[in-house]
Amino acid sequence: MIIALEKISESLKNISRILLGKGMIIAKSRKDLDKMREVGELIAEVRETLRAKVEPGVTTRELNDTADKMIRGFGGIPTFIGYHGFPFAICASVNEAIVHGFSNDVPLKEGDIVSLDMAATYNGFVGDTAFTAPVGNISEEVAQLIRVTEECLDLAIAQCYPNKRVGDIGWAVQQHAEKHGYGIVRDYTGHGIGRSMHEAPQILNYGRAGTKEIIRAGYCFAIEPMLNLGTHETKTLKDKWTVITLDGKPSAHAEHTVAVTAEGPEILTLTKQQKAAQQKDKAETVTA
Ligand code: MG
Repeated sequence: MIIALEKISESLKNISRILLGKGMIIAKSRKDLDKMREVGELIAEVRETLRAKVEPGVTTRELNDTADKMIRGFGGIPTFIGYHGFPFAICASVNEAIVHGFSNDVPLKEGDIVSLDMAATYNGFVGDTAFTAPVGNISEEVAQLIRVTEECLDLAIAQCYPNKRVGDIGWAVQQHAEKHGYGIVRDYTGHGIGRSMHEAPQILNYGRAGTKEIIRAGYCFAIEPMLNLGTHETKTLKDKWTVITLDGKPSAHAEHTVAVTAEGPEILTLTKQQKAAQQKDKAETVTA
């Protein structure tokens, strides 16, 4: 889930900006990082379970219930439930919905896309991840939007080295998204993460390289580009949560929780299987 600055009053909004923008970034200890790894892996298992379930006919309520059950099943808490009153374990945002969509009983249909965002708290730490899935066959135009959003996430993660800057992350997303002419959502952002879902710093999906906070080992970030096929402008529906694109064109979202280590980025929200595959890739690159 992302920071919804517009959900709070103007004065509180300014205070949040100051706290999140300039607040202290909490570097995690080795022990904390182990717990972040644990919750990251658990929520990644939930994400991959949901990914496998997305198909025409499935409802977002079924996806939500699956996530809720899985998270509680491993002893975790669905972090989103009750967050400023949010009622679901996942955010399920269909087509022009960008983020914070409510689950419902409307079956997904061939050609839709659905963005699923989820977080768990386990052992006192939070893991946060999101992806956009095609429902059956989708147009090449929208498939490319999803692909580029994922590429933006990869490029952003690749910036997470000690002594780089938080502005480098936003720059990495912006330069790639703009090459494709996509609208970059500005009203919602990524964030630091740890014992709380939202910690400093705020991580914008645009920016200038070499600006903002210095990145240090031990920092954990939830990085989450949101790209629109059309305008970057958004509006919020009457449910006070669901954010949609102003022009009604589709939107895609991708998110990982990432730790900065002395050696560079470590994606925490990967399943055991994905971590093993990543290790194998690395080993092959070294021997090649
Ligand atoms: Mg998030």
